Amino acid sequence: MPPLSTCNGVNSTQTITQSKTSEFNNLESSSEKSAGSILQSTSDECDKVEDNDIDDDSKSKHVVKIVWRNVVLFAYLHLAAIYGVYLMFTSSMWQTNVFTFIMHLFSCLGVTAGAHRLWCHRSYKARLPLKIFLAFIFTVAFQNDIFEWARDHRVHHKYSETDADPHNATRGFFFSHIGWLMCRKHPEVIKKGKKIDLSDLMADPVVRFHRKYYLPLVITCAFVLPTLVPMYLWNETFLNSLFVATFFRYCFSLNQTWLVNSAAHMWGSRPYDVNINPRENVMVVLGAVGEGFHNYHHTFPYDYAASEYGIKNNFTTFFIDIMAWLGLAYDRKTASRSMISERKLRTGENRPKVPIPRVNGVECYAKED
Ligand SMILES: [Zn+2]
Ligand SMILES: [Zn+2]
Repeated sequence: MPPLSTCNGVNSTQTITQSKTSEFNNLESSSEKSAGSILQSTSDECDKVEDNDIDDDSKSKHVVKIVWRNVVLFAYLHLAAIYGVYLMFTSSMWQTNVFTFIMHLFSCLGVTAGAHRLWCHRSYKARLPLKIFLAFIFTVAFQNDIFEWARDHRVHHKYSETDADPHNATRGFFFSHIGWLMCRKHPEVIKKGKKIDLSDLMADPVVRFHRKYYLPLVITCAFVLPTLVPMYLWNETFLNSLFVATFFRYCFSLNQTWLVNSAAHMWGSRPYDVNINPRENVMVVLGAVGEGFHNYHHTFPYDYAASEYGIKNNFTTFFIDIMAWLGLAYDRKTASRSMISERKLRTGENRPKVPIPRVNGVECYAKED
């Protein structure tokens, strides 16, 4: 797997002033003191760890501590979403259903084109209007603030399938899908997370603003707006708006994103690197607007397309290309054809097994599964 310095993008020439850093630190601590919204406070709760939990022996000592408040909230959210599906087919207006789908698509783009490919991996650059738009639609997705999302994801890439991976897929489908949000983080996640360079994120005013005002932003963008728009624009009922456009939409988007952490780390092919767990998963590709080419993505995390095949089955790449055409996105990074081919031949699951004659004349293979 390529070094994370590529993913971090922190080897850029950005200069972080001392004042900016200290200001951000103040902002960070004030944010963590606030009660926060559901997932924000959830995350703070998950971050809690006793000091003596963090030591070299943490792997053997770690005991899973369930955060029951999160269990209850996620259980309610899923029940509310199921009721939302019922309402979708029985009483909500078609405009509400279309609006729900569009909001779902936008919120997924906020995660994939925004928090993931732009802020976490720095795989392309965006001008301010696009950054603001991406921050807005990412807030609709309600997956914590940009800084926290990008930090966790960098830790995921650097320590994939270890105790330091926030959603370590070797702990099973349930844990990597949703379980990791229902218990306190493994001490290694906290420990390694503190060592990740996040200076590029601290230097971004949009990220700073988003973190500072996350609570009012997320209440407005993820709950109030999606509920009020159908009610005031086409006279939808409050119940249909709340359970279809808000609860169902939120729950559905969350699960689509989580499948990248769970299914795409378990099932599928590994044409680029057979030595890592992430896979190419067709179902996740379709559901997560182009993020299911996960073996490729973990092999070439700096590629803005997150796929060898460009815009093919990749709505996020298509969106970024449109933004580039409009002049709002630029410096899109990609892996070269030769680099991809070389990597496939060297570590892919379909790499040729080249016979190498031994001195004694008995053939063997250069690489074996
Ligand atoms: Zn990634
Ligand atoms: Zn992954």
